[in-house]
Order: sequence, then structure tokens, then C-alpha cells
Amino acid sequence: MRHSRFHSRIHFLILGLACLLLLAALLIVKLSDESDPAIPIPNERQITIIDRQGRQQQLPLEQFIIGVVAAEMPASFDEEALKAQAVAARTYILSHCPPYGQPRHDGAIVCCDSAHCQAYSDELQLREQWGENYDKYYAKIAAAVLATQGEILFSQDKIAQTPFCSTCGGRTEDAASCWGSALPYLIAVDCGYCSHSPKFCSYQLYNLDEVAAILSIDSDTLEEMAVISRTPGGRVDTVMAGDNSWSGTELRNLLALNSAAFNWLILGNNIIFTTIGYGHGVGMCQYGADGMAQAGYDYRQILQHYYPGTQIKTEQQDISAE
Ligand SMILES: [Zn+2]
Ligand SMILES: [Zn+2]
Repeated sequence: MRHSRFHSRIHFLILGLACLLLLAALLIVKLSDESDPAIPIPNERQITIIDRQGRQQQLPLEQFIIGVVAAEMPASFDEEALKAQAVAARTYILSHCPPYGQPRHDGAIVCCDSAHCQAYSDELQLREQWGENYDKYYAKIAAAVLATQGEILFSQDKIAQTPFCSTCGGRTEDAASCWGSALPYLIAVDCGYCSHSPKFCSYQLYNLDEVAAILSIDSDTLEEMAVISRTPGGRVDTVMAGDNSWSGTELRNLLALNSAAFNWLILGNNIIFTTIGYGHGVGMCQYGADGMAQAGYDYRQILQHYYPGTQIKTEQQDISAE
């Protein structure tokens, strides 16, 4: 009798333990569900944008940033690179919101035309682009955006300018050489992290006469073309041919070259341009950010590398400080 009561106590204990374990497992699942940041998008700050159909649309800031990061960076990139991109994008957008700055459009902060304001992909575009990976990629980018919620870059007490480019090719560019206006945190820095970019090095082949026509010179003068000076980032600053001169950026635009880090070789009737990197090179190098993340750096270190001397503040902190 005593023996069987003992056994039933053991059974009760085991059953109780099993229940407890089940409860704990359920709690863990529930907790990790709740900590999954992909689901609830905070909608404290709404912004008005002009969508790709040209209509004004109001949506939560953080939701807009998810679509911006998705448009600006491959979803396959490391989480820390996506976070760095989220902070850079949020900084740009908020720099056009009161109290930091003025909207770019009448009644809207930005438009979704990448050539004018800000590249942005809406749900329809992302579903088309990502296909069956949509849920996975959206959750990954949303997690990166929400992990940095409200964070923006400042330089001293001013919101920073946060340009970025695809691939710097080994050294970023200083803003003064590229655009003529200097900022202490937009200077040329070494980047040994973007060599995995498909556009790290490329070749563009032109016919000699074609280039001569584009530059409004004759082919003989083209043969004399030479680089006169280079920028602090190592890109072409000035090129001369006869009495004609161009800035590296001008030549890049005229010939649709990947970057202003170019060289050329004339072979018979052809001229082959070799370019290093892709884009203007100022600010964060996106492939470099991914490379840094893969090397173990976090998004704060990435931002500090490409925008040296800036500080991350959260919008809330900054507003309450005023
Ligand atoms: Zn615009
Ligand atoms: Zn780079």
C-alpha cells in the first residue's frame, strides 16, 4: 500500500514536471514570438511621401525605411550592414523632416524617384523581386530596421549628411573633391572590405571616334589625353586633352563609367576604360559595410568607419534634449 502510494507520488511528480516543461517550452516560443521584431511596426511618427504612381501617401516612418533599405541594399547582406544602411537612410529622410530640415516636396517629405529623392520599394515590387523569399527577406530587413529604431547620425549638434555608394573600390572619396563642399566626416577613408563586389573592377570598351564625338574633340587629340591630378580618394580629379579639360566626375558622367576611378588604354580604333568600384565613393561603401560585418564589426563600428566622428542619437533623446 505504502509502496504504491509512493509510486503514484512519483507518477504525479513526473506528470507535474512534464507539465512544467511544456509550459516553459510554450513560454519560450511565446517570448521569442514577442521578441520577433518583424511583426509590429511602430507607427508613432507618420511621414508623407510621393509614391511611384505620383500620389501622396502617409505611412509609418519605420515602415518606409524598411522599403528604402530593401531598395538600396541586397537582402542577402549581413544584418549589421543592413542596420548601418537603416541608420543612414533614416538620417537622410529625417534631415528633411521638421525640426531637422525642410521637406523636399510640397506636402511630402520625399518622393520615391531614386534620381530625385529616395529609392523605395513597396510591397508589390518586393514580392515580385523576392518571390518565394519574400517573407524571409522582409523579416530580415524589418528586424534590422527595428533594431535601430529612431537612430540617426549627428555631427556635433547637427543632423549628418549620409551619402553612400555601392562599391568604393578600396578608398572612399572626400565630399569636397566630389561635390565641392567639405564636411569633416565625409573624408576619404581606406576600405579593404568591398573586393567581393561584382563591380569592384570593370571594363568598358568604346570606339575611339565615339569617345572623340562625345568629348567634342578629334581622335588625334584624344590620343594625348592624360590625367593631370587625382583626388584624396585616388579618383581622377582632372583630365586634359589638348586645350580641353574635364573633371573626373564629368568624364565619368559623359562616358557612363562606373566610377571616377578609371584608367584607359587605346588599342587600334578602340579605347578600353578600366574602372575600380561603382558610384561616387562618398560616405558609406555598401559592399564595404557588408565586408566589415562579415569580419565581425557591428553597425556602430561600420558607421563610425565610413562617417568618422559622427554620433548615433535616437530621435527621442534628441527631441527631449531640446
Ligand atoms: Zn523628390
Ligand atoms: Zn569599399
